[in-house]
Amino acid sequence: MDLIMILKKYYSTNHISHSNSFKEILIQGQAPDKGLFMPTTIPRISPEAISKLPGMSYPEIAFVVLNEFLKDEIAENDLRNLLEDAYNFDVPLEKISGQNFILRLDRGPTASFKDFAARAMARLIYYFYRDPDKNLTILTATSGDTGSAVANAFFKLDGINVFILFPKNEVSEKQRKQMTTLDHNVAAIAIDGKFDDCQAIVKRAFGDPELSHLHLTSANSINFGRLLAQTVYYFYSYSRAAENGEQVIFSVPSGNFGDLMGGLLAKKMGLPVYKFIAATNENDEFAKFLETGQYQPITPSKNCISNAMNVGHPSNLARIIDLYGGQMDPDGTINQIPDMDSMRRDIFAISITDDQTRQTIKDAYEKNRIILEPHGAVAWAALEKFKAQDSKPAIAISLETANPAKFPDEIEGILNIHPEIPGALKDLDSKKEFMQSLPASYDSFKEFLVLKECGKGVCII
Ligand SMILES: *Cc1c(COP(=O)(O)O)cnc(C)c1O
Repeated sequence: MDLIMILKKYYSTNHISHSNSFKEILIQGQAPDKGLFMPTTIPRISPEAISKLPGMSYPEIAFVVLNEFLKDEIAENDLRNLLEDAYNFDVPLEKISGQNFILRLDRGPTASFKDFAARAMARLIYYFYRDPDKNLTILTATSGDTGSAVANAFFKLDGINVFILFPKNEVSEKQRKQMTTLDHNVAAIAIDGKFDDCQAIVKRAFGDPELSHLHLTSANSINFGRLLAQTVYYFYSYSRAAENGEQVIFSVPSGNFGDLMGGLLAKKMGLPVYKFIAATNENDEFAKFLETGQYQPITPSKNCISNAMNVGHPSNLARIIDLYGGQMDPDGTINQIPDMDSMRRDIFAISITDDQTRQTIKDAYEKNRIILEPHGAVAWAALEKFKAQDSKPAIAISLETANPAKFPDEIEGILNIHPEIPGALKDLDSKKEFMQSLPASYDSFKEFLVLKECGKGVCII
């Protein structure tokens, strides 16, 4: 790394862009050199400070962690208030058997773990960029969970307009209604195409000079601002499960690897972690990479029942490789091999098939009376496999990332029961839907975007 980068607070995994401000990288999302931003120094949280976490609430722990990164840029009280407001829901940690726990990250307003990152990020963007004279426009392409979490998190924040593009026929009815029943500053756009078409339209808009007056920004997991909030529930669940400073195992259901990256950051900050389990569905490119040192993206990705994890080339892999001293280009080319030995020491990677996922949902219900949905079941199955080959006794926390009621057909098919519908999903059917249908064409989207923004007072002069 050259000197200029060491002097900056954030550098890009492509080693050209850098920045000294969280505020700036929050709005940029992806680095201008197309890499992903990383913090130059990772602050440490001391064992004494960690030993004090059990007495604190979730928002208080979030403050301890985020303040380490943000203290030069946000006043303490403002950060505390913002986090109290973001995390106003339960984060249950259930003891299942022996030393094994399940952390339920599904109690937010859209019933998936995407709420944790989206809610903090929306409030941070609002804090830094609230400006009555300058509208900000958030564009997001989604295959389901991200769109609803982002839409909900930015809902009714004035001065911010949100456009969510989703593939018309590839989101579930519940997912669609979570995006289309908000209205106000949220425009839900059904694209007659695939998720890839939505993503291509959004990417083109970011690079379109004719749209620069709209101040477009992205809210997907390449944004470091999203990642930071995903370190907090590792500290929180540790504080509730480990009483004597012991090392724990985390099993993380992974797609784009933003969740796991949050965990790895927490470990670098000082959280005592014995092992991370990178649990994937049949998209097993990471497990293969860890085993062989060779990386091969899977294109097209395989369609598994844990649909939010159908990713064949995880975007956050560039960050994980960087964390272990390597370098990977956005296309997946590895120019500098990371320290594979320490990566293997920290991470156990395993791929779980759909059959194993369904069997795990069944077994967990029969043995432990718990209802898992497909993503959480991948993590639980991976944990069982890890424990079968590693006899060291350790506390283990498996992450459940969505509410079973988001996958009613799958759960009913396997368990023959109807998962209880949380408040967040209950009223959807009675609400009016607002949505725009568009062909998978950039020009149609652009025209719609410009007209809609002009209606809100942001016209090209
Ligand atoms: C997004 C998502 C994941 C995968 O998280 P990554 O950070 O992309 O690895 C897992 N489960 C659910 C329910 C999700 O929505």
